[in-house]
Amino acid sequence: MNKPEIKLIGENGLRTDGRRLDELRPIKMEVGVLDKADGSAYIEHGKNRIIAAVYGPREAHPKHIALADRAVIKCRYHMAPFSVEERKSPAPSRRELELSKVIRESLETSVMSEVYPRTSIDIFIEILQSDGGSRCAGITAASLALADAGIPLKEIVAGCAVCKIDGKIALDPSDIEDKQGDADLPIAYMSKSGLITLLQMDGSLTEDEFNQGLDIGIAACKKINEIQIEALKRKYISVKEQAEERHESQEAAA
Ligand code: ADP
Repeated sequence: MNKPEIKLIGENGLRTDGRRLDELRPIKMEVGVLDKADGSAYIEHGKNRIIAAVYGPREAHPKHIALADRAVIKCRYHMAPFSVEERKSPAPSRRELELSKVIRESLETSVMSEVYPRTSIDIFIEILQSDGGSRCAGITAASLALADAGIPLKEIVAGCAVCKIDGKIALDPSDIEDKQGDADLPIAYMSKSGLITLLQMDGSLTEDEFNQGLDIGIAACKKINEIQIEALKRKYISVKEQAEERHESQEAAA
């Protein structure tokens, strides 16, 4: 049964979760959360909970997919069956296959794949809990996992969606805003070069609304990129400190 529609912007101009129209949801990131993967990251973006893992560069499998001049990049976006309230099949859906492709393309732009010919770089994005904008948060996490795997990147990619709710452009839609809104504009962006690596649109926007949405979406990606850099620094400062401690205790023991 469909839930009754609710007003997404209140009399006070605030959204159902108390945010202003141009406000991001709370975001937390951690790099290097899995021991076995070459690189990994965890992100909480609103109520989205996402793990990204990267394996590679490693021998391409099956061998015939290998490319002579660069690494093959593979990507799997998958929503866990428990990630949404509705019953969800664990088998990959058409939506998940399509998202795997657009996410791969959005990350491929950033990877210096020519450094590792004949290999493959495998990216896995597992949505543990979904809350709207999961493809964008998945890109943010996967780009961090690629950096954590030590894969040379031109720069880190950050993602954020924009929506139109109750006739107004708003940043970073939550699940209800995504489902009940009039339009959804997922964006992924590289802050230094200013390159947009993902731009999709569901619903319809006027040219002015589109331009306004793009502006606030890009500004949000720049903020998210700063959080990514902080998360990477935290991991490598702690690795450095641990190595120094080990070195000191070895010297003390000698
Ligand atoms: P995004 O998560 O990138 O916004 P969509 O716009 O396709 O992607 O999906 C919006 C929301 O719809 C998701 O965050 C999720 O909450 C819900 N959703 C997507 N696929 C399913 C599914 N198979 N079953 C239930 N809900 C789903």
